[in-house]
Amino acid sequence: MIQIDVITLFPELFKEHLNNLPFKKAISLGQMKINLINLRDFALDNYGSVDDKPYGGGTGMLLMIEPIYNALATIYGENFEQNKADHKIIALSAGGSKFTQKKAREYVKDQHITFICGRYEGMDARVEKELATETISIGEYVLSGGELPCLVVLEAVARLIPGVLEKEDAATNESYSENFIEYPQYTRPENFRGMKVPEILLSGDHKKIEEWRNKQKIEVKE
Ligand code: SAM
Repeated sequence: MIQIDVITLFPELFKEHLNNLPFKKAISLGQMKINLINLRDFALDNYGSVDDKPYGGGTGMLLMIEPIYNALATIYGENFEQNKADHKIIALSAGGSKFTQKKAREYVKDQHITFICGRYEGMDARVEKELATETISIGEYVLSGGELPCLVVLEAVARLIPGVLEKEDAATNESYSENFIEYPQYTRPENFRGMKVPEILLSGDHKKIEEWRNKQKIEVKE
């Protein structure tokens, strides 16, 4: 069972996704538990403040370290940062290390992961440097918040939980399961407006089909 805690200003952005596959299956199997923590609950004042202007000037607002620390302390206890190596705390960050299928395979073996979703201009750099154990980016582009990136990571992980996909081998056969991108696949009709399915796939010769598929796979570097 993998316990996931997500610290976010927008828990409602997760709800629809979590009620659908693959999360619904992972959760119903008792293999994944997702706890959404609203950062606003840790605001420092009655106005709900969780962000402030950057020191040194600049546009936009940054999520402050203190509300994030307090949210993490409810999960791991006070002074958790002193033995943070015992935990997995992932900050979503456009400049973080690239999220890959290899990382998803690593995360699915964990028992507990906490994600911190940034917003606005991001978060106080001390969150990434001193509180998080890892920073992850889903690609070289900038989104408005860490919620979609967090869902991307979680979905890739949930699909790898045994029993979540319909067929046992579905996750082991697809792109990036090894260092390959999956071979092309086709379904009916055989001929659509002159666009034909490769004949080998209609031959019924399973050995030749497998050879053809192996040739079609594209090697990738992770
Ligand atoms: N000022 C930041 C920069 O230049 O890198 C961008 C901040 S972004 C508008 C707000 C938040 O969205 C970030 O703190 C992060 O949590 C999330 N985010 C945006 N793009 C991301 C990406 N490619 N991967 C992961 N998280 C991302």
